[in-house]
Amino acid sequence: MPNQKEISEAIKILQEYLSQYRKTTLNRESKDKKRYSPYQTLISCLLSLRARDEVTEIISENLFQVAKTPEEMLKIPEKELKKIIFKSGHYNKKAEAIRHVSKELIEKFNSEVPDTKEELESIKHIGPKTANIVLAFSFNKQVLPIDTHCHRIPNRIGWIKTKTPEESEQELMKIIPKEYWQDFNGIFVLFGKKVCLPISPLCSQCPIKDYCKKIGVKNSR
Ligand code: SF4
Repeated sequence: MPNQKEISEAIKILQEYLSQYRKTTLNRESKDKKRYSPYQTLISCLLSLRARDEVTEIISENLFQVAKTPEEMLKIPEKELKKIIFKSGHYNKKAEAIRHVSKELIEKFNSEVPDTKEELESIKHIGPKTANIVLAFSFNKQVLPIDTHCHRIPNRIGWIKTKTPEESEQELMKIIPKEYWQDFNGIFVLFGKKVCLPISPLCSQCPIKDYCKKIGVKNSR
């Protein structure tokens, strides 16, 4: 079991170091209450899959000018929806997901986004990460949204030894002090984009290099 004191110290260092950068769209949402409704957070999260954050923000804003509710979303002709979200990539799949999720919300949840993981994950196209993002950022629930950065970095540091983001979520919940849960995703997503890059991380300038075992890191700068 990693040393809790060291984990807290490293997270505090990262919080301070990363304050020079702008947080991702969805992570700003957790502080900037309530720019987005739970439905908008959910849709923005679906749009963010494999898309750059700057693009997600612009596409989300464009889309929400036309539709802010599941009913309004389904009124957009499919062809028009694809045109609006085209630049976020994978637009065919994303349009299908947005339309399906909107339909299920209307039919099964009275047009409201549910606030439990079980209900969210019962909706096709909503996986554990998306569910946790909605729960954390829209409903202030104590959960850890784990994406590829939040999975990769704690494994590199040596805090956990896991193979999937789902396993990481379970292990991280045991070791990350609760006071950092709300900020955890924001910190590690930003850190993964700026310093602890997927390939060739910038270890020489890393603010927490003294805390890191660099597990599995072959090429670093
Ligand atoms: S030392 Fe390198 S591998 Fe470890 S956290 Fe920093 S950037 Fe990532």
